Amino acid sequence: MAGEPQTDCLFCKIVSGDIPATIVRESETTVAFRDINPQAPTHVLVIPKVHYPDAASLAAAEPTIAADVLTEAGAVAADEKIDSTGYRIILNTGSGAGQTVFHAHAHVLGGRGLQWPPG
Ligand code: 5GP
Repeated sequence: MAGEPQTDCLFCKIVSGDIPATIVRESETTVAFRDINPQAPTHVLVIPKVHYPDAASLAAAEPTIAADVLTEAGAVAADEKIDSTGYRIILNTGSGAGQTVFHAHAHVLGGRGLQWPPG
């Protein structure tokens, strides 16, 4: 059923605690944890506890939870003290855009200069 945990999903296993992660924030609907391969001094992933393959499908089915992900991303930036210098929230969508884990997630990146356009 839509939103249900998937047995073969890495991020569902982080939500359930079956795979460890360095969790920095948790809400009723989201978990935020440090990326295992950080691309900046701060690189945190914010995920919904429910399973949807990407941010767009999450937003279509559960717009309130999609908003929670963005709210938590902003809270991570404040916690990490990167909100005053600027940070980036990234929603890679589809393998052609670099998505490798098909459970919706927002990257929160900051703590260094970030170029535009991204690669
Ligand atoms: P994507 O490429 O799908 O936008 O982002 C997936 C992210 O998940 C990557 O930045 C990758 O480093 C991170 N990642 C993959 N496996 C793990 C893991 O087991 N633990 C953590 N904390 N991050 C992971």
